[in-house]
Amino acid sequence: MLKVDLHCHSNVSDGVLPPADVAATARKAGVDAWALTDHDEVGGIAAARIAAQEQGMRFVPGVEISITWASTTVHIVGLQVDETNPVLVQGLAKTRSGRDARGREMAEQLAKVGIEGAYEGALKYVGNPDLMSRTHFARFLVDSGVCASIPEVFRKYLVEGKPGYVPHRWATLTESVEWIRAAGGVPVIAHPGRYGFNIVTEGALFDEFKQLGGSAIEVVTGSHTPDQYQTYAEQARRYGFLASRGTDFHAPGESRVDFAVLPNLPSGLKPVWHDWF
Ligand code: AMP
Ligand code: MN
Ligand code: MN
Ligand code: MN
Repeated sequence: MLKVDLHCHSNVSDGVLPPADVAATARKAGVDAWALTDHDEVGGIAAARIAAQEQGMRFVPGVEISITWASTTVHIVGLQVDETNPVLVQGLAKTRSGRDARGREMAEQLAKVGIEGAYEGALKYVGNPDLMSRTHFARFLVDSGVCASIPEVFRKYLVEGKPGYVPHRWATLTESVEWIRAAGGVPVIAHPGRYGFNIVTEGALFDEFKQLGGSAIEVVTGSHTPDQYQTYAEQARRYGFLASRGTDFHAPGESRVDFAVLPNLPSGLKPVWHDWF
């Protein structure tokens, strides 16, 4: 069976490794088919494609778009996108704009609780000046000794109700699906178990996504618990979605689950890659 990982980050967004090193790491862990899905950015795709070819992996060009839906930040992955498509490229550029100003506001809030220099501190971890992320602040807060781990940062800071949280309006669900489809790609709801929606709200998201032309959800992801693999396998069957699988790799040792240990899709699901490899 092919080992497929369709969700990974490089330092072109909030991962730490350059695209070629993510490819090498994935390959070393036995991955046969791989997608780079940086947040709101396709700048790493060209390098990733070459590296995947050198490593003997099948490659899927991807992206993970930040959207706001029901006042919540949701992520929509696009797979098999043409990364040169102007509709997608312009949409992503619009989505990225505002990240720097948000970073400055986050740092102002952190300064008010005694954490100085967070903007400059986070910036040292940023590989792409267009893509300052909460993850970069989290790495700074760990490395400067404020928190012991990245999950601790996201419990104490940078999330709603905590210092360093700056609400942000991302793209809309409609835009994300339109941009991905304009670029010939397949829209996938990333880690649906992470949003904390109740069953009614989640159903509304799935229905709207489907109506817009969305066709897949992530079932097995490093962002789900093993229980959630089953929950979203059932949801995929119920809504007729194709199923995707990916680690959501960001850095060696930092991810919730490593390449090697992520299980395969539960049986009875149609993989999103069923006619690709
Ligand atoms: P941003 O797009 O700047 O809001 O940052 C979102 C990123 O923060 C996600 O893509 C994750 O990489 C990271 N993140 C969010 N919540 C958590 C969490 N609870 N634990 C670890 N990383 C998280
Ligand atoms: Mn991330
Ligand atoms: Mn995500
Ligand atoms: Mn991700």
